[in-house]
Amino acid sequence: MAVESLPNFTPMARRHWTSIPAGVRQKLLSNVWCGECRAEVTITEFRGRVDQGDLLLEGKCSECGAEVARVIEAG
Ligand SMILES: [Zn+2]
Repeated sequence: MAVESLPNFTPMARRHWTSIPAGVRQKLLSNVWCGECRAEVTITEFRGRVDQGDLLLEGKCSECGAEVARVIEAG
């Protein structure tokens, strides 16, 4: 998935996400904790929204398909 193609992001979440350097974004996507795998995995099919000022990414584990999420706190 191209990082810049974000159809499932709210406008505010997209603004927050695109303000993060691309290299950091890639790292954030590739070390999400999966409770099923009990390991760090890559999040896929994710969507983004802002919740109480923090960016919330919700998607699926690339390994097992379980729901995973990552909160990125506002700087
Ligand atoms: Zn998993």
